[in-house]
This record gives sequence, C-alpha cells and structure tokens, in this order.
Amino acid sequence: TLSDRLTATFKSLRGKGRLTEADVDATVREIRRALLDADVALPVVRDFTTRIRERATGAEVVGHLNPAQQVVKIVNEELVGILGGETRRLRFAKNPPTVIMLAGLQGAGKTTLAGKLGRWLKGNGNRPLLVACDLQRPNAVNQLQITGERAGVDVFAPEPGNGVGDPVSVAQRGIEHATRHHYDVVVVDTAGRTGVDAEMMQQAIDIRAAVKPDEVLFVLDAMIGQDAVATAEAFRDGVGFDGVVLTKLDGDARGGAALSVRHVTGQPVMFASTGEKLDDFEPFHPDRMASRILDMGDVMSLIEQAEKAFDADQAQAMAAKFAADEDFTLDDFLQQLQAVRNMGSLKKMLGMLPGMAQMRQQLDAFDEREFDRIEAMVRSMTPLERRQPRIMNGSRRARVAAGCGQSVSAVNDMLERFGQAQKMMRSLKNGLGGGGLPGIPG
Ligand code: GDP
Ligand code: MG
Repeated sequence: TLSDRLTATFKSLRGKGRLTEADVDATVREIRRALLDADVALPVVRDFTTRIRERATGAEVVGHLNPAQQVVKIVNEELVGILGGETRRLRFAKNPPTVIMLAGLQGAGKTTLAGKLGRWLKGNGNRPLLVACDLQRPNAVNQLQITGERAGVDVFAPEPGNGVGDPVSVAQRGIEHATRHHYDVVVVDTAGRTGVDAEMMQQAIDIRAAVKPDEVLFVLDAMIGQDAVATAEAFRDGVGFDGVVLTKLDGDARGGAALSVRHVTGQPVMFASTGEKLDDFEPFHPDRMASRILDMGDVMSLIEQAEKAFDADQAQAMAAKFAADEDFTLDDFLQQLQAVRNMGSLKKMLGMLPGMAQMRQQLDAFDEREFDRIEAMVRSMTPLERRQPRIMNGSRRARVAAGCGQSVSAVNDMLERFGQAQKMMRSLKNGLGGGGLPGIPG
C-alpha cells in the first residue's frame, strides 16, 4: 500500500546525519513511484514531489529532529495541504431548509450516503428529510425508503403508480413538503449512470437549477482509481459541486482519489464513507487522512510534541556548550527538567514509542511533584552554586533547604541526582551512549 511504501522510504533515511542531494533524489523518486502506483493523478504527483524536493534539500539534524523525521514531517504537511488543509464543514442556509443535493455515478454510494448523512444530521440535532429523485432505477425509491427507515429519518417519495415521474418536480415538491413540515435539512438523492452521459448530467443540472441547493456534494467511489479524476472533472464541468464525499475508503482504495480530487477540482473533500453500515461515516479531516496514509499518526504527534517542548535555539546552545567542553550545570539540569515537563504527558508520549515500556515504568515511579521540589531547590541556589555545585558544603545546603522549605536530606538527594545526570551527560559526550533521561532515577 501507499503507507507501506512511504514507511519503507523513510526507513532508509534513518540514521543519516545529513541528507545529500542523492538521498533527496532517491527519496523523491520513491515517493513519486509510490504515489503513481496509488493512482494519484500525474499533475498532483508532480506538484507534490517538487515541493518535497525543495523543502527536503539540505535537511540536517536540527535540534531533536533527524533528517528522516524532518522528511516525514514535510511529507505529512504537504499531504495535509493537498488534501485541503482545514476540515470543510457543511454550510447551513440562513432560512431553512438547507438543501443538500447528491450527485455522482451509479453505485458511487449516493443513496447509502443519504441515509448516513440523515442519521448524522439527526444526531447533531437537525431534522432532516430525504427526497428520492432517482426515478431511473426501478428499485431506487424503495432503497432510499429502507435506508431512511433504518436511519430513523423521514423520506419523501413520489406516490407509487404515477409512472416514471419527473425528478425535478419530485425535488421541488420534496422541498415544499420540508418547509411545510419544518424539516430543516433536505437531502436530495439523484440518479446516476455507470458512465458519465449527457442525459444524466442534464437531469442533475435541471434539479440543481430548480431547487438551488446550498450544497451540491459530488459522491465519489474511492475504488475507481485513475478514473476518479476524469469523473470528477466531468461533474465539475457538468452540474458543478461544492464539496466531495469519498466513499468505500474501507476497501483497498489506494489513496489516489483522495489525494487527487481536491487538487484537480479545487473543491474540498467534506465527508468520508468507510463501510456499508450507517455509522461508517465521518467528516473528512485532511490531517487524519494524511496520518492514515503515512500510517504513523502517533509518531507524528510525538514529533510535534517534542518540537514544542524543545526550543531549537536552546537545544543548539546546549550542543554548542558540549562542543566547547563546558560542563553540565544545575541550570542545564533545570532546563532539561523543564523541557521534559513541557512535553506534557510524558508517560503517554513514551507509551507511543515501541520498546519504551521499561522507561515508562521508571517514570511511573517518578512523582510529578518531584519536579516542583527540584525546581524550588535549584532556584534557591546562587548562580555560582548552580555552575559549581561542588562548593555546596553543609552550610550552603542548609541555607538552600531553609530557602525553599525542604529538608537538608532532600537537597542532598537532589544534588546526588544531579551528579548522576552530570555523569551521564559526560558519558554521552564521550560517545558511550546510555539510556534514560538525565535526572530521572533508574
Ligand atoms: P448509488 O447508486 O450512488 O446510490 O450507490 P448506493 O448507495 O446504492 O451504493 C452502491 C453499493 O455500494 C451498495 O452496495 C452499498 O452498500 C455500497 N456502499 C456504499 N458506500 C459504501 C462504503 O463506504 N463502503 C463500502 N464497502 N460499500 C459502500
Ligand atoms: Mg442510488
């Protein structure tokens, strides 16, 4: 799948200190191939890879993010951008009823969607009415009635036995019915064909002109691969639409439709349908879809949290300090503790990383309030004492303890812990590696 391909590509970047032009080339080529194989439209692929190349070139270790992580971050951001950035919500009419018209090929999932949308709207406190305007297929009206019943939503349908009927007039009467009976949202289900044809498109155009919907939603089967783009263009140029609903995202859709349709038509994906059941439906969130494609939602939020916590300048200052062979001081110690704290739920973060169970246990034993105590003690020390903790004799320790309302033995513990952290920092600097976070007891 697209996810697997991208993940494999990123893996090959792991452990690199700096990305060479050749690395970037190879990565971009791989991403390009993966996107094409996933049926993403060519212009979209071109745009996307150009941007990735520009942004990834020269990526080096900045603070806590290694080049591989940076590339993942860039790809993620670009994916979110291609998918439309923000979630686009339904626009409701100032004067109800809000009219939502569904358009799309036969089998795209319009009728199923009408039920899902109805149920979702009802759950949000609306009073929706479904209107059956597919009078082409013999069973279509009946299908909508069954769907509506399951969804607990009323359906307006032409009276049986009136011949084929006129979908435009049914749509108009449906809206009149809604107004009269105080429904606040009308979902108009329409007919589709297996392929785009002029007659079907004209019918959709006529319905649109007659009922002036607040939203025309183009319903697109995500499984149709490269055909998605041509179909979307035909509907854009025909009836026109304001938003897209992707259906059958539960199948082995390769992601191409999702990534192409927004870019190609300029209209956002608004909802996603992920199964045949009424509940398999959700507003479309570009960021979540990008994570799903990257298959690394947790890793991404981890990177973001780490980024927030560690100020890049601070990290660089610390690195420079080590390079200059300066020693790790209590100020550094305090800064590190604060950075760790800023990560918020550290335990939760560590839980996201594989192989961190042991570390997590250590943290469980570490009382959050311990941070407060340590901070208070360090703050009670003079700048000189923080830089040269070895001058901390008995009377200085007693003064610090009194200054922050802690016992002398607590001060002793803290200095002991700092001593361990200092040792660890020295060994890290000497390239010995070593696990754990400085200052956190093992
Ligand atoms: P319409 O012709 O556009 O009205 O499409 P239908 O609503 O009749 O759906 C066609 C078929 O696709 C039906 O068998 C639905 O159960 C199925 N279907 C609709 N949406 C989804 C979906 O999100 N996932 C899956 N797996 N099947 C879907
Ligand atoms: Mg239908």
